[in-house]
Parts: sequence; structure tokens; C-alpha cells
Amino acid sequence: EVRLDIMGLLVQLVHPCPGKQFDWMRQRITRMWPKWRKAAIELRDSGKIKRGRKSKKILLHFGTLAQGIRLDEKAFLGGPLGELVQWSDLMTTLYILGHDVTFTTEKSQIEYLLTNYHDTLQKSTWRKKKVPFDLIYTDIYGIKLFKEQYLQDTSLGPSRCLFRVLDSFGTEADFNSLTYALAHHRQENPARVCFWSCNNLELQQYFTMFPHTPDNSFMGFVIEKPEMNDSLSVARHPKQGLIYAKQHYMFKGKEPYLDILKEYFTLHGTSSPSVLIPKEDEGKVPDYVQNHGVLQNAEYTQLLYQSKVFIGMGFPYEGPAPLEAIAAGCVFINPRFDPPHSRKNNRFYKEKPTNREITSQHPYIEHFIGEPYAYTIDISNQTILRKTVEKILATTETLGYLPYEFTEAGMIERMNYYVENQDLCSVPRKSHIPDSAIHYVLGEPGKSCNEVCRDQGFICENTHFPAMNSETFLHQMKITCDINKFISDIVHPSVIKETEDHWTCFFQADADLFSCAGRKTSHRRACSCRTFKKDQTALCDTCS
Ligand code: UDP
Repeated sequence: EVRLDIMGLLVQLVHPCPGKQFDWMRQRITRMWPKWRKAAIELRDSGKIKRGRKSKKILLHFGTLAQGIRLDEKAFLGGPLGELVQWSDLMTTLYILGHDVTFTTEKSQIEYLLTNYHDTLQKSTWRKKKVPFDLIYTDIYGIKLFKEQYLQDTSLGPSRCLFRVLDSFGTEADFNSLTYALAHHRQENPARVCFWSCNNLELQQYFTMFPHTPDNSFMGFVIEKPEMNDSLSVARHPKQGLIYAKQHYMFKGKEPYLDILKEYFTLHGTSSPSVLIPKEDEGKVPDYVQNHGVLQNAEYTQLLYQSKVFIGMGFPYEGPAPLEAIAAGCVFINPRFDPPHSRKNNRFYKEKPTNREITSQHPYIEHFIGEPYAYTIDISNQTILRKTVEKILATTETLGYLPYEFTEAGMIERMNYYVENQDLCSVPRKSHIPDSAIHYVLGEPGKSCNEVCRDQGFICENTHFPAMNSETFLHQMKITCDINKFISDIVHPSVIKETEDHWTCFFQADADLFSCAGRKTSHRRACSCRTFKKDQTALCDTCS
């Protein structure tokens, strides 16, 4: 049954150590609770969330905090909030769905749970048996901890299939596989190549903040559609701009850009002195910006509702704030990156386990939302910038858009789908995506299955690659293989056309390397693609 009483959730947020509180998370959950509740009731009454589901025992371990990276303490000082947003929303979703949730942020709590859950069983038993949970959500620090300290087994033993890893930026096949990562990134420091990855999990065990590559599961979070309460003044100033920068260093090098914008807009900021930034990287907020410092939610919301534009500065990448701003009716200026930022050329992405090429500060907004809600432009090009600003100023109506997948209902529906259908423990395993939603497509040379499926109006579906990894299957796709090769690489199954009727066929020799993201110049990938619901892309069109 869905749970409609918040108390059972808030008690999870009583910090075990005296004097510490999860204030930011508690405030977010409490503020948004009426909307969560309403969404859950609607989903239940419409039958989208079924009654009589099995309540699962779910452990949530926020490993970053356990590691001593106290995001919760910096939350009101301009520190990163994406993780706190995602953990708050995850625990609320699972709780409201009626599951038995245990939230931990201290190593000692895990130790306690693993050793004392049942008096009769000892810690060593967990290495041979599954831990006493149906599911364990953690993050990358958490998975390291489980591997090294508690389960003392690099493969996580029999509990491996229970883990779900919150992984904001995503993990691709070539970084997930330890042997492949070390062999293919030899020029990099092996300890660093594997710092965020090499877990040999299934790719769908990684839960991302945005739908980066469908190899991973898209978990997302909720965009808090800011509500104006009556005591705040709401009039939108058609010439007010709010700068997206919570810390001073984000202003570094941005004067020429802001100098132009200040000709059109009164500029406001919510920036505080940088935390943990070397002095030489610190930036300065120009005098013409009315800087309020990092604000509490209500005042911040007021600023959003008063502003016409929300001004991207190029960093942070892929955060929640621009989606909130668009939901509140602002137009987002999204800085374009040309060349794209990636682990090849960018410090931030350098060690991230993904080869994704980031073409703007917010690729989701660029690809899934677009104009007139957002303009993705080269902010160093004066002419383009001025033209864009003029276009924005010419729109007098207030826009405002919030994709369903980022609403409370969207997140509850999606997470419920995963909890009920994504079974990674049973043998033999069956994909949770029905065959009827799958379309098999042969790609153009050099394209990844992500691109191939997208071009056809579908999304790549990793779980159906094994079904197509045979000569018989390729034959059905009208390919007669002259030579068959079994190779461990991230682009197979694939084919190379040697002459008009002659093909070399490559089959995947390592099931861990099936990948939607992989591509190689001469190879034509054989892709499994699936349908999706508009605005709820994680689900196929007939999935529920
Ligand atoms: N935010 C806030 N006060 C401010 C500026 C931002 O509470 O003065 C909130 C904003 O509403 C958003 C959150 O900070 O929910 C995260 O912002 P961002 O996109 O910068 O992501 P992060 O880098 O923190 O993960």
C-alpha cells in the first residue's frame, strides 16, 4: 500500500551522531510532502500503482557522507546539492510506495546491520549468503566500502545482484569491466582509471541523474516546481536576469559575457565565496550584479519567479537548477561547448567512467527541451548572444515547462517499475522489456546503438543484445556471415561489409561488454532498440 504519513520517513533522518542533522534533506522532504502525497494517491486510485505489492526491505547507504564528504553540512553554503536532492527523492519514493526503508550514512550502521541483524548469523556468513535486504541502494563510495570492508569480496559475493548504485554521470561498459578498462586505458594511471568504476556490475545497476546512456537505468529526481506562497511578491520583471552560479569561482572569465547581458538585464546572483577552491581559481562577482549570497528556498523561489532569464555560466554541469528555472517560467541560456567537453579534454570529466561528449552545460535541456524554453548558444559569440537576448526579450508570454519524468508522479511511477520488474537475481534471467517493444536495427558504420536507435525514434535496449548475438539472428537481418569472430569488445555484435555480398560478423564474447554507447569507425552495429513513453523515457510504451 502507498504510505501517506510522513513521520515514518522523517525518523529516518534523525542523525545517529549528536549535534548533527540532515536539515537540508528534511526540509526538502517536508516542503514537498503534500505534492508527493497527492501524486501517490492519484497513481494508486488510477491503478498505475497496484495495491497488494510485496513490501521490500530496502537498505539505502549514502556512501559519500559515510566517507566523510559532508555534503549535508555545506548544503546551505553553496556546496553541491544534486546528491542530496537525489537521495531525498529516492528515499521518499521508496517509502511512499510502502517499502521498508533503512537509511544509513555511517560506516558503523552498516557494520551493525551486517553483523547484528539476526543474532544467530555472524558477519562472515554475509560473504557466503545474501545480505538480509531485497535491494541495496548506495553510491560509488558505498559500493567500494561494501566490496572492501564488509563483504570483503571484490565481486560482492551473492549479494551482487541486490545493489543499485546512484551514479550521477553514468558508467559505460568499457569502464565497468575491470579487465577491459585496464587494457584499454593503459596510458592512464590504473588506480585512477578504476577510481569511480571497474565494479563489474551490470550496467543497469547504475542509476543516473539524467538519461545519459540507456545502458544505465535512469533514476532522475524531482524538479521542485517552485510554489509561490502569498506573502512573496510575484511580479515578473521582464528585464531581470538571475545568474546560475552558487560560488564565486564560477564567475571566473565570464566578465565579457556578463558585460553584454548587463546591457539588457538587471543582473542578480546567489553566489557565496568558494569552498575548497585554490586561490588562483577564485572568481569575482562584478559590481553590477546584485548578489544575495546563497539563499534559502523561499527567497530563491521568489527570485526565480521575478526573473526573465536564468543565465548559465558553463558550470556546474547537468544540475537541477536550470530545470527548476524553466519550470518557474524563466528562459535558460545554455552555454554550448564546441568542442564538446569529455574525459579527453576536461578536468571534471577526466576521471568519470564515461566517454560521453557534453555539448553544452545542460545536455538534457539541449536535447529534450530546447527552444523557446532554453537557447543553447556559444556565449563567447557576441552577435549570437545579442540576437538570442533580443529573441528572449521579444517573448512577452511567460513560458514554463516541466517534463513528466521529473515530477513526483513521474519518479514514483518509474521507480516502482524498476522495483517491481528489474529482477537481476533470478537465473535464467529474462529482460523486463517485452519482445513486442523491441526493434532490431543494423546501424551505419561508426555509429553507436544509442545514435542508431535515436535516429529511428527509439531508445537502445541493452538487455536484448544477448538475444541477437548469433549468426542465426543476423541471418534474419538478411546478413550472411562469411567469417564469424567472437571478440570481447564494446561494439559487438557488429558486422563489416567486405564486398557486396560478403560480411564479416563479430559476436560478443564477454557478456559484460554489451554496450549501447560503444562505436568503432568501420563497424556496423547490430542494435536492439525499444519504444518509450513520451516524457517517461525509462519505460517502454507498453511497460507499466
Ligand atoms: N539553490 C538554493 N539557493 C540558491 C541557489 C540554488 O537553494 O541560492 C538550489 C536550487 O534550488 C537547486 C539546488 O540549489 O535545487 C541545486 O543547484 P545546482 O543546479 O547548482 O546543482 P548542484 O551543483 O548543487 O548539484
